[in-house]
Amino acid sequence: MGQIVSVRCPKCGYSATLNVGVGKKYNEFEYVIELFDDEAKEKIREAINKHGSKNWNVRIDIGVCSKCKKVVEIPIFTVMTEAGEPIVIASKCKCGSRAKTFEVDRVIYGKDELLCPLCGEDLKVEVRGLWD
Ligand SMILES: [Zn+2]
Ligand SMILES: [Zn+2]
Repeated sequence: MGQIVSVRCPKCGYSATLNVGVGKKYNEFEYVIELFDDEAKEKIREAINKHGSKNWNVRIDIGVCSKCKKVVEIPIFTVMTEAGEPIVIASKCKCGSRAKTFEVDRVIYGKDELLCPLCGEDLKVEVRGLWD
């Protein structure tokens, strides 16, 4: 299950609600591949072909996009090589730009801080529930 996370800026009032983490169907390749943009899809298929189709996982990270100035959901695909090295492929923000990404657990436990994409203040982060 993934987490439903809301972020809010105490200074300018920016807010967003995101479904992040790992969904129930995220072990189905044909399902998760559709979460990614075309460029990422190609990279994922290449990595899977090269390193085998079994050892991979998908999660949604929190992205902060400096282009469209939003906090967004960013799908992340990780393929493990035979040597145990992760190949990490991130989807782009829907605006076509690359967002800076943060793992949800690191944000929830205060290891990474999210800054408001509009004014740069620390965002307040709250877990509101779970999703499948
Ligand atoms: Zn703000
Ligand atoms: Zn964007």
